[in-house]
Amino acid sequence: MSLGTARHDAILSVIRWRSESPAINYLEKSAEQLFGENVFNEEQTRKRLPKDIFRRLQRTINVGEPLSPEIADVVASAMKEWAIERGATHYTHWFHPLTGLTAEKHDSFISPSSNGRAIMEFSGSALIQGEPDASSFPSGGIRATFEARGYTAWDCTSPAFIRENPNGTVLCIPTAFASWTGEALDKKTPLLRSEDALSVQSLRVLSLLGDGSGISRVYTTVGAEQEYFLIDSHFYFSRPDLVTCGRTLLGARPPKGQQLEDHYFGAIPQRVLACMLEVERDLYRLGVPVKTRHNEVAPGQYEIAPTFERANIAADHQMLTMSTLDRVARKYGMHCLLHEKPFAGVNGSGKHTNWSMSTNTGVNLLEPGDTPHDNMVFLVFLCAVIAAVDQYAPLIRASIASPGNDHRLGANEAPPAILSIFLGDQLTEALQSIVTGKSASKRAATLKLGVTTLPHLPRHFGDRNRTSPFAFTGNKFEFRAVGASSSIAWPVTVLNTVVADSLSRIADELTEETGKQPTPAKVRDAVAKVVKRIYNEHGRIIFNGDNYSQAWQDEAASRGLPNIRNSVDALTGMHSKEYIALFDRHGVLNKREFESRYHIKLERYNTTLAIEAATLASMARTVILPAALRYQCEVAEAIAATEAAGRQCEHESQLLDEVVSLVTELRNRIRELEAMLAREHKGVEAHGQAIRDEIIPAMAALRQCCDRLESVVADDLWPLPTYREMLFIK
Ligand code: ADP
Ligand code: MG
Repeated sequence: MSLGTARHDAILSVIRWRSESPAINYLEKSAEQLFGENVFNEEQTRKRLPKDIFRRLQRTINVGEPLSPEIADVVASAMKEWAIERGATHYTHWFHPLTGLTAEKHDSFISPSSNGRAIMEFSGSALIQGEPDASSFPSGGIRATFEARGYTAWDCTSPAFIRENPNGTVLCIPTAFASWTGEALDKKTPLLRSEDALSVQSLRVLSLLGDGSGISRVYTTVGAEQEYFLIDSHFYFSRPDLVTCGRTLLGARPPKGQQLEDHYFGAIPQRVLACMLEVERDLYRLGVPVKTRHNEVAPGQYEIAPTFERANIAADHQMLTMSTLDRVARKYGMHCLLHEKPFAGVNGSGKHTNWSMSTNTGVNLLEPGDTPHDNMVFLVFLCAVIAAVDQYAPLIRASIASPGNDHRLGANEAPPAILSIFLGDQLTEALQSIVTGKSASKRAATLKLGVTTLPHLPRHFGDRNRTSPFAFTGNKFEFRAVGASSSIAWPVTVLNTVVADSLSRIADELTEETGKQPTPAKVRDAVAKVVKRIYNEHGRIIFNGDNYSQAWQDEAASRGLPNIRNSVDALTGMHSKEYIALFDRHGVLNKREFESRYHIKLERYNTTLAIEAATLASMARTVILPAALRYQCEVAEAIAATEAAGRQCEHESQLLDEVVSLVTELRNRIRELEAMLAREHKGVEAHGQAIRDEIIPAMAALRQCCDRLESVVADDLWPLPTYREMLFIK
């Protein structure tokens, strides 16, 4: 059976594919046996390193003790032996340049020997430091191309791992990436620095609360839930927009979208489940603790989430999760779309980033706990987050700005562009009661209150809110506005830094209030005072209602909360003296490093949009217009033939009029967009503004014209896979 077009052939190929899915031998090893198999983890280092070297390495990993170079040779040699046993011929320093992707340059262990043969070599210095050519990575002005030198430096806190290929394996060493001046050119370095900053300020606060003993480090813990779409590769390759931009730039809405809400948590289709199972096995082997999988809201949309880990490792593992999804999906004849909004009219994809702080002794600082004393620690850290999110809302908003995320934020879909915090009614009332000194409601009646004592907090927070961009979910915050395709490193860096800043102010206040001889009563009073101040100054950021409603937009405006609707505004707002000083103060980024990130972000935004606009213009001109003209011809011929046969054809004439006028409009809109794209702009800001004010509206108008044609032109002449096909044929 052939229906005639490439599009229909693609559909048939999908059907054929379904019976041919490859399979893994899942009985070969259990998940438990697989877990961490490809990681040079603690178990391996303990087994392979001399005891004292092992202990010194662990101290560096766990409490940040400096790494002495002499242990590097020993570690390198053990790592090499392990990697070779697992089939490795090469190693690479694996890093996170500011492209938002990962990068690697492979070197072989092979070194020729004098007898005409070769030996396998890997020295401590090759482990510690690499020197990739940095000139082709974005540096935002930190380094001119002629100063091409960049260094990668071993991050021993994130374990090395093996990446497999059917024809061999590679040892991957997580590294930081910096210029020869020592300035960070990557996403890992600031993340590590921000973890340090948060730890330093948290320890100050804990010790003032009388809770510092035995605690030497505070970690940020992160678990990121990844949403993604899977569509068949035949459709993917038939759509220039998906191949080039990762999203559809045009396409009429299907009669059935997600209205029936029948996809969420529904049965996972066979081929998709097969793919997920293989993704998970690969991730287990890399030590990524993936935990949950399910269907998401939109048709063709799914989610994978891990158990939380320390931020730096979580960020590395998140990059591995994205690349594994991408690679394995292809094996199953599908493409994984990580874009924030691959299809208009159905839900987009986010990456809910769960975030908390934990001591090295394993205490979650955002755990309300059972006793007032725990509550005191909890309340202080909770208030630190509340103050930080309110004070630095525009910076946090900018941290998740991207071309893709603009389609989610503020588009009446989770979550809105106004940053606010969901605490739940009970917790909000508990805070209010501290401020007013009165029990607020019956529900909170169990709270024991007074000026100098702090309340017992309810243990379980029953209420949930799906619409908040930043929700407290029992013992952690869930930052829901992060985009599906972005690295979590930068948003987490920003969170760590702003919370560190707010903790530092709290530590100053507590010091001043409690004086030289703090007593438990003085500390409690001081904490109550801090809670009051923060609630009064920053309570406006708390909102427990429906964040999608127009009422909230109005309410937020009256509270003075910023509503930053697009990336150009968000990124421009990031470039401020206050934020530069903030990052500098905590040693996370110096001025040049910060400004380079601003520049790169805006430039990448502009470039992405320019590529999208050019792709749309070219598809409209070379794919849609010819199809429309063919159809126009067919209708005109039908009219001529009908009239020649002596019949009237009023309806066909109307149809012809409609097609002709749409084709005329299409041509005009293409020309208009092309003219805009040809214009030069002075500087990234001006370019960004032109995109925001001219190009995006022109793209929307052109798309609308294409989509109207899709609903008119004969189906067998329509050249692109439709939404219905891409989303529903699996
Ligand atoms: P829900 O979204 O329903 O609250 P979970 O409680 O399972 O789901 O948590 C979702 C994500 O939050 C998981 O990745 C989980 O590991 C992570 N998470 C749980 N506790 C913490 C924590 N203390 N710090 C960071 N992430 C956490
Ligand atoms: Mg969640």
